[in-house]
Amino acid sequence: MSKKIVILGGGESGIGTAILAKKEGYEVFLSDKGRIKDKYREVLKHIEIEWEDEKHTESKIFEADVVMKSPGIPETTPLVKQLREKGISVVSEIEFASWFSEVPVIGITGSNGKTTVTNLVQHVLKQGGIDSGMGGNIGNSYAKMAAEENHDWFVLELSSFQLDGIEKFRPHIAILTNITLDHLDRYDYKLENYIGSKFRIAENQTEEDYFIYDADDKNITDWLQKNPVSSQKLPFSIEKKIENGAYIENENIVVNINNTKFTMPTSELALQGKHNTKNAMAASMVSQLLRIRKQTIRESMANFQGVEHRLEKVLKINNVLYINDSKATNVNATFYALESMESETVWILGGVDKGNVYDDLLPLVNEKVKAIICLGVDNHKIVNAFGNIVDTIEETTSMKEAVQMAYRLADKGDNVLLSPACASFDLFENYEDRGRQFKEAVRNL
Ligand code: ADP
Repeated sequence: MSKKIVILGGGESGIGTAILAKKEGYEVFLSDKGRIKDKYREVLKHIEIEWEDEKHTESKIFEADVVMKSPGIPETTPLVKQLREKGISVVSEIEFASWFSEVPVIGITGSNGKTTVTNLVQHVLKQGGIDSGMGGNIGNSYAKMAAEENHDWFVLELSSFQLDGIEKFRPHIAILTNITLDHLDRYDYKLENYIGSKFRIAENQTEEDYFIYDADDKNITDWLQKNPVSSQKLPFSIEKKIENGAYIENENIVVNINNTKFTMPTSELALQGKHNTKNAMAASMVSQLLRIRKQTIRESMANFQGVEHRLEKVLKINNVLYINDSKATNVNATFYALESMESETVWILGGVDKGNVYDDLLPLVNEKVKAIICLGVDNHKIVNAFGNIVDTIEETTSMKEAVQMAYRLADKGDNVLLSPACASFDLFENYEDRGRQFKEAVRNL
């Protein structure tokens, strides 16, 4: 008799799991409490599995041998609790996919920088002639890739929610970019729980695997002291010299792994800013492990185009540069954006605040920001935090108006930066919508 899998959630990971499970001979039932998007309904019809939406038929769900829970469904959901009580195994899509794929994985997690590093790694691998597929938390799900793509490597972006449900998943190379406060609501407001979940990326690694991480991040280094990993540790730092790993010397990135050295001037990196230097270090380390030619790594780091909505240069108008960093949905990401500003900046921020504390930004704002435009329904925290140090604070709920205000406030040589430090749901569909509206408003100036 074939095994029964129940898939909870009909989004990207649910559909990917359905495709893979069907291919592997499972009897599949997919159930989503909300409405499944049309494009996914089409796939479900096409692969001919049983499914339902806008309800959960518990009698069918409890028949499962194994359940795949989409990352968006919290562990505390009554249905998930019931499944656990019944002893039914509940795994994530990442775990399930790993059972059926032999392709070695480069897995990338962290609070910020995942998408950038994932794209950067994929870019260097391509330039280096290595056959790799990219996906996970962006693009195609790992399960869909495992079902349909054959490559020498998979480069996967992994969120902590996706890592929560793993048991055996073991990336050969793991990258942990950083750990800052985010999504704490899903972790009982305990930072240790959140840190623990990010570190799951290394929990099944062995001495044959590699763990690349930010050695300047105290959350990471403190955790590592108490909870060692089995894989070979490759730290990177912009603050201190590292024996085996990556560091900065005389404004050059130096990657030194087992006495093979790679160097590159930071000024030649396509993506500027300290955070991007770190991202480039992480990607260079992967490239070196895969023995890509040094010249190719250098060229790739210099010609990388960046990723939309991440410090994306939109246009220069009257010698004012407009920058779209809509993806900065937390204070830490915005910190790095402000830090990388090299001229006076008109800063647009605001939206839904996840308990933001703005103190860390004060020195940077003091130094670089000439005017603030609040773009949100409730702006009182921003006005309270920066009212005393920035002369001009304006408020609006329209992107078009925000951009026009910025146009009036900026002088030749200034930057206009959209880096909201907040989620977008009060005024926009999502951060992409916010970023696109910004770009459109800039182009219409
Ligand atoms: P993620 O996929 O983890 O959300 P992104 O690469 O999409 O990360 O970047 C999200 C935001 O964080 C952007 O505003 C970007 O400029 C910023 N960022 C990118 N890399 C880092 C980093 N290493 N540290 C802090 N912020 C970063």
